[in-house]
Amino acid sequence: MIENSNANMADLAYWGGNITFLVTSDGVLMVDAKFARAHDDVVSKIKSVTDKPIKYLVLTHNHGDHADGAQRFEDGGAQVIISADDRANMLRAANANWAPSFTYIGQARIFLGGKEVQLLQLRGDTRGGTVAYFPADRVISLGDLVTTAEAIPSIINYSDGGDWTDWESSMNRALALDWDTAIPGHGPAVTRQQVLQIRDKMVAIRERVRVMNREKKSLEEIQQTLVKEFNWGAGPAAGVIPGMLVELR
Ligand SMILES: [Zn+2]
Repeated sequence: MIENSNANMADLAYWGGNITFLVTSDGVLMVDAKFARAHDDVVSKIKSVTDKPIKYLVLTHNHGDHADGAQRFEDGGAQVIISADDRANMLRAANANWAPSFTYIGQARIFLGGKEVQLLQLRGDTRGGTVAYFPADRVISLGDLVTTAEAIPSIINYSDGGDWTDWESSMNRALALDWDTAIPGHGPAVTRQQVLQIRDKMVAIRERVRVMNREKKSLEEIQQTLVKEFNWGAGPAAGVIPGMLVELR
């Protein structure tokens, strides 16, 4: 796992999100690529543990903090893979000029150097979010379905087809797989127990908003209540609440 030095918004905005990489006898599979400006730093970190080439780069979703660096890795010979839905999200961006040449729908499997990586398309933070499951290592990379840093809340990106109700069923599908450690999109790696706690908190936030929405509370009142009760709803999370009021009636 390649994290930033600090799990805060400043490091996120400069470097991007977490990277997972799997070293095999036939090459390296990466999950996510940070911003392009992080490219040389990422390559040197991977080279510090293996001289094998980077063969595959899986993108968990279309956002720049995870996908911006992908083209550089493609130029270096890696096959970049994203779900068809999040490729479409990528191309909808204002100044889109590149997208991966290879997509999948629903699920895919990659076999490299005797290791298997399972990709599952799980709608949550975006419509086509991908989680990467490494069964032999009992690890799962969840992308921005889950963030674990206090300063970087988990959010649903409605403009990219995210959905809070599907987020819960997606989490339950991820939890049905057999793993001990989860690598989030931002923040430190966590245990299964910690992921269960995050799921329960996100479901509680959703249901609290649904009740307040039905009570016709104001946007401001809803936001203040969420910050007070869940420490969620400020910073990057604030912009999500109007979309929640549409979804959660
Ligand atoms: Zn992110």
